[in-house]
Amino acid sequence: MEKVLIAGSGPAGLTAALYTARAGLAPVVLEGPEPGGQLTTTSDVENYPGFPEAVNGTDLMERMKRQAEKFGARIRSGAVRSAEFRPAPPRRLLLDDGSTLEGAAVIVATGASAKYLGIESEQKLRGRGVSACATCDGALYRGVPVAVVGGGDTAMEEALFLTRFASRVTIIHRRDRFRASRILAERVLRHPKIRVLWNSTVEEVLDVNRNEVTGLLVRDAASGVARVEPVSALFLAIGHTPNTEPFAGQLERNPAGYLVTSGVRTSAEGVFAAGDVCDPAYRQAVTAAGSGCAAALEAIRYLESLGQ
Ligand code: NAP
Repeated sequence: MEKVLIAGSGPAGLTAALYTARAGLAPVVLEGPEPGGQLTTTSDVENYPGFPEAVNGTDLMERMKRQAEKFGARIRSGAVRSAEFRPAPPRRLLLDDGSTLEGAAVIVATGASAKYLGIESEQKLRGRGVSACATCDGALYRGVPVAVVGGGDTAMEEALFLTRFASRVTIIHRRDRFRASRILAERVLRHPKIRVLWNSTVEEVLDVNRNEVTGLLVRDAASGVARVEPVSALFLAIGHTPNTEPFAGQLERNPAGYLVTSGVRTSAEGVFAAGDVCDPAYRQAVTAAGSGCAAALEAIRYLESLGQ
């Protein structure tokens, strides 16, 4: 049985790994379907303290990984399919490759995943012009018009990033004002390559028959009129869903699916949570890292109480 299992390799998981590794607990860290977490889909991170010139999201995560490994964290790939959290150790994580890991303590830092609109044509064209990651796919659309759906910070960042490649970026937002922070919204609104369709929703992504994105059927809520907006790609930036399905029935979740915690303690003894999986409010890299540290310190205390 391992001492500490950490599910997730974003800022929360890797900070928990750093602290538990330095405490000599040789944690096993599971890298799921998105190694390094959501930050790897961000280009310039400007608000992680210590990097006044900004830092590339993937580089930041690589550094966190190296730092945790330096002190003895063991990082392996594997997604959690289900869990068995009994009142006493061992606690089990069952992985998608059929293997099982046993640990005395578990830190859940599985983060959150991008939401999609849920319309059929969007799902059919995922990976063929429909994306939830401009950093990953933006460079594929050089010199052509693209669209971003959403009005939060992510939508602003994605739209600004896409101006590097696209001929024009159209933000489609369902309301008449952004929820994004003022600094980002202002940057967007004064960018010559970006325009905004307010009070508008995407009803269909065209063209499933051609197996590529050629345009969007967009409806203006005020006039009720729907028209085709020609674009070559659609980027979704409408928020995230916490990755808690594997823990259903084992850990208490709120109606939105976030883990319910008291500090970093979950509803199960010996199981701690950190980062976006339990944070609908802040969702920042630095807050995730901070809660990863707190979860590690609680896990270390818990193991000490068990005499480990
Ligand atoms: P968010 O703040 O929840 O914004 C989601 C946006 O998508 C909202 O504008 C929302 O519209 C819209 N939306 C949601 N569901 C929709 C649907 N079904 N159809 C159409 N539009 C829909 O999410 P986020 O932008 O991903 O940001 C999440 C958190 O990360 C926030 O706390 C944000 O501040 C933070 N963040 C910070 C930075 C940064 O500081 N550099 C960068 C990225 C993210 P309504 O406005 O009408 O609700």
